[in-house]
Amino acid sequence: MFDLSGRVAIVTGASRGIGRAISIALANHGATLAVTDILTDAVCAFGDELRSQGRTAQGFMLDVTDTASIEATVEGVLERFGRIDILVNNAGIARDQLLMRMKREDWDLVIRLNLTGAFACTQAVLRPMLKQRSGRIISISSVVGQMGNAGQSNYAASKAGLIGFSKAVAREVAGRNITVNVVAPGLVDTDMTRALPEAVRSEWLSKVPLARFGTPEDVAAAVCFLASDEAAYITGHVLAVNGGMYV
Ligand code: NAP
Repeated sequence: MFDLSGRVAIVTGASRGIGRAISIALANHGATLAVTDILTDAVCAFGDELRSQGRTAQGFMLDVTDTASIEATVEGVLERFGRIDILVNNAGIARDQLLMRMKREDWDLVIRLNLTGAFACTQAVLRPMLKQRSGRIISISSVVGQMGNAGQSNYAASKAGLIGFSKAVAREVAGRNITVNVVAPGLVDTDMTRALPEAVRSEWLSKVPLARFGTPEDVAAAVCFLASDEAAYITGHVLAVNGGMYV
């Protein structure tokens, strides 16, 4: 199921958390992996680790806020692997604060990284995908972009923005057999949520009907499906992976 052999995937923010699980899952389904992250050492070590497990992979430094690094990585991936079939816009951060106390720099940073970063990466990979007349763009949004959350107006705006962005681009590129979809995770057990106070984690957990945190692998499975031939007729869709937290 979900045979991705011969497909070349770029994952941003790949060295830990959800991005790491997505990269491993795509590789397990046969994809060739360009794992990218802002920290060169971590991501190159991850590329080596995948290769030592018999996968075809390489680590690339890519800062989603830096257009030059995005373009250099896309060129490097094309040089090394010859094509780009899948982009996963995963890199993301949170800088939480109530709106009345939020610093303009925290608003700007979260929008620039989470939303403008996905715009820039998508634009860069679309050139080869349009030529190939095929491709899959998958962006990692959040349940917070669908339902809002107090203290996360910057993060919610960036994640809701990814949904509108993906629906618009889906319409633009459908004629070239490129699909553009979103995965919207709920509460997932990673460094991002481990940084929350225990009381906040418990309160969030009490709102999840399936009564557990999601795992990075739960999110990765949804990405593999959307990247596969089985999802060829799905575009402009938001696939919720939230344990029923928002239905
Ligand atoms: P994480 O553990 O904090 O990992 C984020 C990754 O993004 C890290 O590898 C980080 O690199 C990288 N990154 C940060 N700034 C970057 C930049 N400028 N360019 C490229 N990469 C950069 O987060 P996560 O929990 O796995 O989240 C992954 C995605 O899922 C995010 O978009 C997040 O918003 C979304 N999400 C998470 C949850 C959740 O509950 N965890 C829920 C819904 C959605 P460093 O190691 O250098 O920091």
